Amino acid sequence: MIIIMKPGVAEEEINLIVGDLKGMDMDVQINQGVECTVLGVLGQTTEIDTSALELNPSVDRVVRVSEPFKKANRKFHPDDTEIMVGDTSVGGKKLAVIAGPCSVESEEQIIDVAKRVKASGATFLRGGAFKPRTSPYAFQGMQFEGLELLQEAKRVTGLPIVSEIMAPKHVEVFDYAVDVVQVGARNMQNFDLLKELGKTKKPVLLKRGLSSTLEEWLMSAEYIMAGGNNQVILCERGIRTFEHYTRNTLDLSAIPAIKKLSHLPVVVDPSHATGMHWMVLPMAMAAIAAGADGLMVEVHNDPQRAKCDGPQSITPDSFDDLMKKLAKTAEVVGRAL
Ligand code: PEP
Ligand code: MN
Repeated sequence: MIIIMKPGVAEEEINLIVGDLKGMDMDVQINQGVECTVLGVLGQTTEIDTSALELNPSVDRVVRVSEPFKKANRKFHPDDTEIMVGDTSVGGKKLAVIAGPCSVESEEQIIDVAKRVKASGATFLRGGAFKPRTSPYAFQGMQFEGLELLQEAKRVTGLPIVSEIMAPKHVEVFDYAVDVVQVGARNMQNFDLLKELGKTKKPVLLKRGLSSTLEEWLMSAEYIMAGGNNQVILCERGIRTFEHYTRNTLDLSAIPAIKKLSHLPVVVDPSHATGMHWMVLPMAMAAIAAGADGLMVEVHNDPQRAKCDGPQSITPDSFDDLMKKLAKTAEVVGRAL
């Protein structure tokens, strides 16, 4: 961290600040310039409240030179992280493809979709059991029964399960029932939930918040990792912008940015990002071309009658077509399906 002092500040003022910082176990380098003095501060600078420091009348500006996230930071962990889930993984050469309906609706529906996506090459089955709906009157999911049906689909197909958690009190059940716990966009900053998940060893798929910056997203990953759980998969699912043609705006630039800032794997959800089934294929291809480690795609056997997110769901046949086309994109960027 760098502290730029105002021009002409008396030496005693500078010494007072240096003394305070040293009292906080910081190492301070004093650089006396012609016009002003610049302090270089080394140590656990995340503990310093920069805005409070800027209230000091002798201080002109405080500039952070390192990111506030540590465990998620590539600087401290240069190699890519690959997260193992059973005999598959996220973040390796082979792309992870998480496919399935927005929500589990019946035994027949989830088993049928699971079999079809497995046959096309999906590596994970998704399905919401607890649904975060904008309206309290909309279908809220099959809840615990939904988790049981997902387990049944896993027994039939062998596909590991990804499902969304909403409440900290459900962490124990999810730890037992699913292979990857999904934290949805609306809960990205539910810090109590993140802390509870940090106490487990369960892989967590952390979706980017509706209007979150990359730094806020990585700080949420840091919450889980700070508790001792390093198994975090990031999922870009589009952000809110002024454009309303699509449900959200898919931030493809987040993929190379996250790859530069962090060692954690990143997957892309073109379904929630666009809200339209016919945009899923081009955006999925673009995501893989941009370096994503995988995809999360909503697939429904009867999108017109889906209880949730039908317009953005693709059919099992379209998913099969997507997988074939994606295999070529993957090859171009040195990945495989
Ligand atoms: C979902 O995956 O069904 C979902 C609700 O996604 P998001 O949290 O990205 O809106
Ligand atoms: Mn959905």
